[in-house]
Amino acid sequence: MNRIKTVLAAIDFSDSSDNAFQMALSMAKSFSAQLLVLHVINEPVDLRGFYVPHISFEKLEEEIEEGAQKMMESFCRQNIHDFENFESLIVAGLPYEQIIAQAEEKAADLIVIGTHGRTGLDHVLFGSTAEKVVRKSKIPVLTVQLEE
Ligand code: AMP
Repeated sequence: MNRIKTVLAAIDFSDSSDNAFQMALSMAKSFSAQLLVLHVINEPVDLRGFYVPHISFEKLEEEIEEGAQKMMESFCRQNIHDFENFESLIVAGLPYEQIIAQAEEKAADLIVIGTHGRTGLDHVLFGSTAEKVVRKSKIPVLTVQLEE
């Protein structure tokens, strides 16, 4: 089997993804692999320019991106202390599509995600992003459940 050289952790800033991230970090350390920390701005494409004038939508998008960037920087500062081989990525789109697309583009060997995200829905076994990534990704996926 090929060595794991790149691990992609998909984070949505929920407790569940924080927990999955710890697993991704520890795997990257043990395999001496690169860690990609990905957040997807869940972009409602259909709303683009429909309810708000185009110009204010662009401003809103800019502010959302800046906010996401700040959250990512603070997340990495707080969670990655003694590990340098990481890269953070912020993209916009459908989370499950982008998680798979970015993992493929960056030739990740493993995707690590939480079983649940910000929407909670504890009664379902998998959140919808988790389920779609597991079903559609050709790259192996590790799902991590947050213990209650
Ligand atoms: P969900 O299926 O939406 O409950 O989320 C399950 C997991 O998918 C989360 O714990 C994250 O690891 C990942 N995920 C969900 N949404 C995003 C997002 N917008 N960006 C990156 N990862 C995400």
